[in-house]
Amino acid sequence: MEKILNYINGALVEPHSGNHLDNIEPATGKPYGTIPDSTKEDVDQATAAAKAAFPSWAALSIQERSNYLLKIAELIGQNLEELAQAESRDNGKPVKLARTVDIPRAQANFHFYGTAILHYASESHSMGEVGINYTLREPIGVAGCISPWNLPLYLFSWKIAPALAAGNTVVAKPSEVTPFTAFLLSKICIEAGLPKGVLNIVHGLGPKAGAAIIEHEDIPMISFTGGTATGEWIARTAAPKFKKLSLELGGKNPNIIFADCDFDKMLKTTLLSSFANQGQICLCGSRILIERSIYDLFKTEFVKRVKAMKVGNPKEEDTKLGAVVSKPHMEKVLSYIELAKEEGGTVLTGGKQAEMTGEFKDGYYLEPTVIEGLPHTCRTNQEEIFGPVVTLIPFDSEEEVLEMANSTKYGLASSVWTENLSKAHRVAKGLHTGIVWVNCWLLRDLRTPFGGVKSSGVGREGGFEALQFFTEPKNVCIKY
Ligand code: NAD
Repeated sequence: MEKILNYINGALVEPHSGNHLDNIEPATGKPYGTIPDSTKEDVDQATAAAKAAFPSWAALSIQERSNYLLKIAELIGQNLEELAQAESRDNGKPVKLARTVDIPRAQANFHFYGTAILHYASESHSMGEVGINYTLREPIGVAGCISPWNLPLYLFSWKIAPALAAGNTVVAKPSEVTPFTAFLLSKICIEAGLPKGVLNIVHGLGPKAGAAIIEHEDIPMISFTGGTATGEWIARTAAPKFKKLSLELGGKNPNIIFADCDFDKMLKTTLLSSFANQGQICLCGSRILIERSIYDLFKTEFVKRVKAMKVGNPKEEDTKLGAVVSKPHMEKVLSYIELAKEEGGTVLTGGKQAEMTGEFKDGYYLEPTVIEGLPHTCRTNQEEIFGPVVTLIPFDSEEEVLEMANSTKYGLASSVWTENLSKAHRVAKGLHTGIVWVNCWLLRDLRTPFGGVKSSGVGREGGFEALQFFTEPKNVCIKY
């Protein structure tokens, strides 16, 4: 059994309560370890350590802070295989995906912010003969960083790295559903010699350990990625305390396919954008909108390929879909498939739990599911499912597809497939999402602003946007 501990003030420690929660392996449905069931006391202790460490961490030169982040990145690289295996075991995702996407990206996050901080400059505003203003961008104090289960180390490090680079100290909580690589990260930080208290990782439940971070008087900024309902509670709780907030929330992303697209390229990428990580990426395109003249062709070819996708043991190289993350999540996704049927949808392929044998028979496997025949306004097409389920919807014009694409309360990401340049620009401009991909999906440049509009979030991560978030600007005005 793998026992996870909190990382507080530079040491691996038991939770105050002495209580632990089971950590379940989604591939088998069996517990394989425990995680601390942390409480306010643990968060208080972590915050006190972070507060004490803040002045000296903030006072380091940017080169010194950069060196620590680059060392952590290097150690993630050296431990890539162990981390990938751990991520797959904890989350159910194929090891291949963890090895090629999750862990390299976590390494890149530390590397990116370890170098970005060296190039981060602030503004000045000349008043000609009268004087000059310059802006100081100073670290704020203790940052609270809370992340979800779908891309565990990838999203955890996406917050921690810029917070530390900017000179803040951190109290972080990974999802209780996928805590393992955050624990391995604490060991890496110890090995990297990160000064004690600079990063503290508290494990446990959202409404208990997570809420204690949100409510803590000594944590003036919160960077959160997770569900919209949780984000709403966090916004309500943090607002009266005037905390800085960055919220990356849910999505219901449209994937818009015009008849003049490069069909083969589109089809290959659409399989990924629909089902990568079992459809549990906030950026997955769950509503596929297809121009009517190619609807039947798309349906036939897409369904044929979806049927051929292998669901199974996450360790096998040719597995395309592993297990979804937990039993409650599997049940939630299945309930949406039932809802789709009640709403009049036709399941073209999938639609149920995937039958497994041997050690995997109690794991949480779902068949990749394609549904058609639903109006864009129904619940199935409006609510986030966050699993291997997509719907197909035909459209006739640009105006109609934009109306359908923009009809949900979400606005995270969208994809557009067309070889017509003007149309691509026009549609990209008309989409109410924070990110638009044209003829691609999940092609990431870490310098770009990342985040959603409407109920998909507040604020942006990525590039200098995150460094702006984790610093406070101070204008200094000098009269000549
Ligand atoms: P969740 O909101 O249930 O949990 C996210 C994190 O918040 C977990 O660490 C959890 O313990 C914690 N938490 C829960 N309640 C809390 C509370 N009251 N106070 C403080 N912390 C609390 O989300 P999830 O189920 O882990 O993740 C799936 C969701 O995340 C989906 O909606 C998905 O779209 C979203 N997501 C968004 C992005 C993005 O960048 N916009 C990226 C990945 C996932």
